Amino acid sequence: MFIGPGYVPFGWHPENIEECRYLQYCTLCKGYKPPRAHHCRKCKRCVMKMDHHCPWINNCCGHFNHAKFALFLISAVCGCILSSTLLFIGLYRAFRINWYFLYGEQQYIVYLTVYQLAFTVFSFGLALGVIVAVGGLFYVQMKQIIRNETSIEDWIVVKAYSRPRPENDVFIYPYNLGWWQNIKQVFWEPQGNGMTDWPLVDGCHPYTITIEQLIQKEDKKARKRQYTIVKNYNGSWFPISVGLRTCLTPPCSDEYRIPLSVGDKVFVTRWRTRWLYGELCSKLNESGCDIKGWFPRCCAVEFTTTEEEVTSAAKKLS
Ligand SMILES: [Zn+2]
Ligand SMILES: [Zn+2]
Repeated sequence: MFIGPGYVPFGWHPENIEECRYLQYCTLCKGYKPPRAHHCRKCKRCVMKMDHHCPWINNCCGHFNHAKFALFLISAVCGCILSSTLLFIGLYRAFRINWYFLYGEQQYIVYLTVYQLAFTVFSFGLALGVIVAVGGLFYVQMKQIIRNETSIEDWIVVKAYSRPRPENDVFIYPYNLGWWQNIKQVFWEPQGNGMTDWPLVDGCHPYTITIEQLIQKEDKKARKRQYTIVKNYNGSWFPISVGLRTCLTPPCSDEYRIPLSVGDKVFVTRWRTRWLYGELCSKLNESGCDIKGWFPRCCAVEFTTTEEEVTSAAKKLS
């Protein structure tokens, strides 16, 4: 919690100004983002080798605290395995008290009052819940550490492999140095300054990943579609007023929900059956950044531009 992930200095740019063209610019930190860094909206900073923002530690998990975060997860799991075992033994002996009373030894007899029983069952349930949930997170984290990927890079890599690209242009993830080197790099031999000097796979360009990000951003821009809002939406997570089915199938993410009013224009970049994700056109929030988020699909209609589309839409309506 207190060590933090390491932040990119405000207004940062690479020593060689020429290299700026390979990097994304952060309008909030007024600087370039080094490879593997991302802007965290909650920390309001660009974070070195950002993995994710963790609400449980109220901080980002990144370059300097990635190992500690993984150790924290495995400690929580081990602690809960120990406590659930002890609680289970306690419950077992309390339920078989007659047997222990007749045949067991004195020190194995456990009496539980109603309250003690209720709390023990409750704690046992909590411990099991933590083992499953945090254990799952630890498994995912270790899988990524073994590949030297952060959760964000995992997305970038998936998109890089699935994106159509010219022949002979093969994407090689530049940081995967083999599982043992990758684990060492996170847990006991952190290398570099967390900014530009990441150890690379032979033959990779130091900006492979940022160039890929820039291309993916352009791709996304080309795919975005404009929608017009036809029904007000107040930004609620469970908007019962727009229909039960929309309310019951919210997008599985803690991203922002944008309140919208009739007539607003939104550039949509992600589509779900009942929800859309987009950016409000030509409006900025108080800190000067784009307003992006989810909203119910039924509140918007796609904005048709060509004459053909307009006539076909009109025909449908008539
Ligand atoms: Zn930033
Ligand atoms: Zn953060």
